[in-house]
Amino acid sequence: MSLGCPKALVDSERILTGLRAEGYDIAPTYRDADVVVVNTCGFIDAAIDESLDAIGEALAQNGRVIVTGCLGARPERILERHPQVLKITGPQAYEDVMGAVHEHLPPRHDPFLDLVPPQGIRLTPRHYAYLKISEGCNNRCSFCIIPSLRGRLASRPIDEVLREAERLAAAGVKELLVISQDTSAYGTDLRHAEASWRGERYAARFIDLARALGSLGIWVRLHYVYPYPHVDAVIELMAERRVLPYLDVPFQHGSPSVLKRMRRPAHAENTLARIRAWRAQCPDLTIRSTFIVGFPGETEAEFAELLAWLDEAELDRVGCFKYSPVEGAKANELAGWVAPEVQAERYERFMERARAISARRLAARVGKTIEVLVDQVDQEGAVARSWADAPEIDGVVRVRSGGKPLRPGDLTQVEVTGAGEYDLEARLTAPPVTAPRARAAPSA
Ligand code: SF4
Repeated sequence: MSLGCPKALVDSERILTGLRAEGYDIAPTYRDADVVVVNTCGFIDAAIDESLDAIGEALAQNGRVIVTGCLGARPERILERHPQVLKITGPQAYEDVMGAVHEHLPPRHDPFLDLVPPQGIRLTPRHYAYLKISEGCNNRCSFCIIPSLRGRLASRPIDEVLREAERLAAAGVKELLVISQDTSAYGTDLRHAEASWRGERYAARFIDLARALGSLGIWVRLHYVYPYPHVDAVIELMAERRVLPYLDVPFQHGSPSVLKRMRRPAHAENTLARIRAWRAQCPDLTIRSTFIVGFPGETEAEFAELLAWLDEAELDRVGCFKYSPVEGAKANELAGWVAPEVQAERYERFMERARAISARRLAARVGKTIEVLVDQVDQEGAVARSWADAPEIDGVVRVRSGGKPLRPGDLTQVEVTGAGEYDLEARLTAPPVTAPRARAAPSA
């Protein structure tokens, strides 16, 4: 049902085009439809009344109504008269309308006709997938031009993200890697708008997202999280193994003065105290990070501060880059560029420390039994990963299977028998689990 001006009509056409392209039929009457979408007008009082009447008529004759359009920007007006509507979205919210239709009337997948499987086309192996929760970034780090390339933070509605995660899990994905430019900022641009998923209300908020994803019963790994105080709440979910006890926090430096010049988010936080508290609550927590050495103006004293910080932080997984200028970045205007040979020397010193810490922390795992996810199988056994290893960037666990058959995507228990600088060796202790396991739903 399309009401309002020609702009609203075009919106309706776009929604209908999207729905038809996905194989939905357009029904001529309310009674013939499985769900009704009412595109409302909210320009003047008479238009509001007409829209509210149309919603009432659709509810009376069909009962399953999704509301969109200008009046959708004032949901309280609609809910006052019609609290039973399934979903309310604002003007030009095509994606949200499509998402609401998918939720309440999921498209039928026809394997003979559909070119695209329900979980979409992915470039990763079948058992893991990236879940992008937002675009853009509201930070202004002085070495980065991503905000000018990709714009301000634009988070995806939480129900849309969760439905995608659900489809991926149903398609056999066993590990979700949550990505964005700033995962801890998720939903701030949406003012933490709430939505329903599996009968529960969730806010577009970092912790709600982690909690909901943690109820899917598969591995959930969080990347690009900044050490803001509100992030602390996720450590409890990690201690309970609702999400993997793994945090990818791009610290970039350990010297407050360099971090200030870098204009890093949360640069004033006491990160060492925060890491100590996280580990006290969740001793298995693996922290991965990246750093830049030789940032403009970095003195030997500031670099020494970074090394001391790293020694105390004892990060498990560390990557390092020598600063190189990016066209258009503010950092290019800073004085005191560090000579390439000094950068190279600092890089070596930094990586030597990081390697030693990594080796020490991995050695402490020898003798322990851990769960791993198999990535590849070869003649000697398998290359797998534990909670502490993100694909492509961290180490691996080499598993001797003792002749037992393993397949990519298997989850299995292994005993750690050896440790190197970045990788572990292990032997199989239990038969692999090939089906996704159910885990208890988290408390609200
Ligand atoms: S480096 Fe800073 S500005 Fe660039 S994307 Fe990351 S948080 Fe945003």
